[in-house]
Amino acid sequence: YPRVTFAPSGLVSIHPGTPPMAAQSPHFGADYDLPRADLAFRDGVPFAAAFDDGYYNADDGLAESRHVFLDGNGLSARMRELRHLTIAETGFGTGLNLLAVMAEMNRHPELRLDYISFEGFPLTAEQMEQAHAPFTAVAAEAAALRAALPPRWPGYHLVQLCGGRLTLHLHYGEIGDMLPSLDLRADCWFLDGFAPARNPSMWTAENLSHVGRLTRPGGSLASFTAAGDVRRSLEVAGFAVERVPGYGRKRQMIRGRRSGDRDDQPMPPSRIAVIGGGIACAAAAAGLRRRGAEVLLLEAGTGIGEGASGNRMALQSPRLTVDHNAMSRLSAACLSFAARLSDLSGATMAKGVLALDAPERMAARHHVFRGQAWPVDLLRAAGPEDLPASVDESGSAIVYPFGRVIRPDMLLPCLMGDTQLVSGFEVASIDAGEDGLLIAAKDGRQRQADAVVLASGADLGQMMALSGDLLPLEQSYGQVSHVPVAATPLNHELSNGVSFGGYLTPALDGLRDLGATFTKQQQDVRTGHEHNLGLLPETWQSWMASPSPEAFGSRVRRRASLPDRRPVAGKLAEGIWVLGGLGARGFTLAPLLGETLAAEMLGHAAPMDRAQRAGILPDRYKDR
Ligand code: SAM
Repeated sequence: YPRVTFAPSGLVSIHPGTPPMAAQSPHFGADYDLPRADLAFRDGVPFAAAFDDGYYNADDGLAESRHVFLDGNGLSARMRELRHLTIAETGFGTGLNLLAVMAEMNRHPELRLDYISFEGFPLTAEQMEQAHAPFTAVAAEAAALRAALPPRWPGYHLVQLCGGRLTLHLHYGEIGDMLPSLDLRADCWFLDGFAPARNPSMWTAENLSHVGRLTRPGGSLASFTAAGDVRRSLEVAGFAVERVPGYGRKRQMIRGRRSGDRDDQPMPPSRIAVIGGGIACAAAAAGLRRRGAEVLLLEAGTGIGEGASGNRMALQSPRLTVDHNAMSRLSAACLSFAARLSDLSGATMAKGVLALDAPERMAARHHVFRGQAWPVDLLRAAGPEDLPASVDESGSAIVYPFGRVIRPDMLLPCLMGDTQLVSGFEVASIDAGEDGLLIAAKDGRQRQADAVVLASGADLGQMMALSGDLLPLEQSYGQVSHVPVAATPLNHELSNGVSFGGYLTPALDGLRDLGATFTKQQQDVRTGHEHNLGLLPETWQSWMASPSPEAFGSRVRRRASLPDRRPVAGKLAEGIWVLGGLGARGFTLAPLLGETLAAEMLGHAAPMDRAQRAGILPDRYKDR
């Protein structure tokens, strides 16, 4: 296949044989990576050479953080009074402000908190560890943060802290590019860039006008700086700003309050019925429970994971595009969350997914990928060490290091937690009653809820028909072949997941999973095996055919997807929400989508960028 080489000058040369589509791609050479923080330590305090400024006060950064940001926003009183709080911050840096908030949360065990922070130059865990070392009062919080840090990919990452009571939303990238595309309502802001004179890109009037837009009326802000330009921009953005004594030797800092009447938000639902029995409903239930809702899971079968989500193994891998468009970015955000969840729950069987240059349209896409800059733990060109010797593809493949092969039977219970489960409940009707929604089962049982989430995988179409709202769902049968590994040449060399149009897993209980079929009608099992074998690269087919398909086991389940192959998550009608259309990507997509759906239902922050959000709303079909 074509080869791309990097000359010492950094120029990319494409050798003959380049697929025409790839050669013409305007995205060749695109850079989707983040810059590194250029960090030095001065007397133990991190210092950014590029901005000629320190991350916090050299005398006592933690005390400064408490004085300026926590006290400046009157946080301890608000934490006492409120059950939920949304804090937003410009400049995550070492996370010290967050650590101060986490420590304070220990005194308010009922409080739930969303902490949204922006960072263009994320530190590594090692850099953070060095910075955190002096702050022994928050050592436990610091260790928890470092252990939970997401990969440093541009875009959105959701992180759970404080036993799930705190949701950290990290937005990695240039703040001026991110603020305009977000919607959220912060109760307060920590404005914490480097000094405005040295870090003007952080403090532009436009950025600060978005801070105003994203603050609820009556909300507050605090900042260490009292610079005149910043104050004036904040006033234009709708804040009443006052100067007050700063920390230590700093004479002044500012506090501000957003004008406008407090707008009372509608009461969020508190009892929520989730209908379904697979990864979509487990993920929605987890997101809702964690945010304090009472969740009842109504499942037609005898337990969770009887449908497609009950396969022995599943791949988690991103679906990236050469222009890294909104859906590509969403898939990276989903993988960032899903892979870490798999690791935490013990569901991870293998890290790293190898994507061969097959089928042909993938080969063309991979070729462009190899000429682009991606974070190396998201996407990199495969080297000879990544490729099983039996792959005769001229060494062409992509590695997704954050991809995973997982065991659904480990992940599902972790998401389910102590969710109350009603099994054998085949929903017959959903009606609006005096006291919320009345959900009736075919056997006459009834349950009440303030809202329902339809998350029943392949049966989603029938569920939606009950509420009168239809999306053009397509059902397909997916057959996975269980292939004995005994005496195959791949035994010793293939320990990762591999994709090639189809996918092949490492062995579990002496069997690899080889998938999968996509057919509208159910076909006979032998035909399914032959289809799956046909997906394999040629060199593997020859030995995979023996033992012959007669010796293969199989599992056939249905799945549902939408014509644009995107998932759907959002409000369908009053009180009725939906999460589905996950196709064969449920274990990658559902964990984060369950979180964002839950947040939206309960009126909490779900700051996915607008284009991503719009791309998966049910309205994209309803409005047609
Ligand atoms: N709150 C931090 C802490 O607790 O360590 C200190 C933040 S430090 C003063 C400012 C941060 O803003 C740095 O981490 C820097 O990388 C980030 N930053 C500066 N300019 C930025 C920009 N234009 N977009 C995104 N992040 C930026």
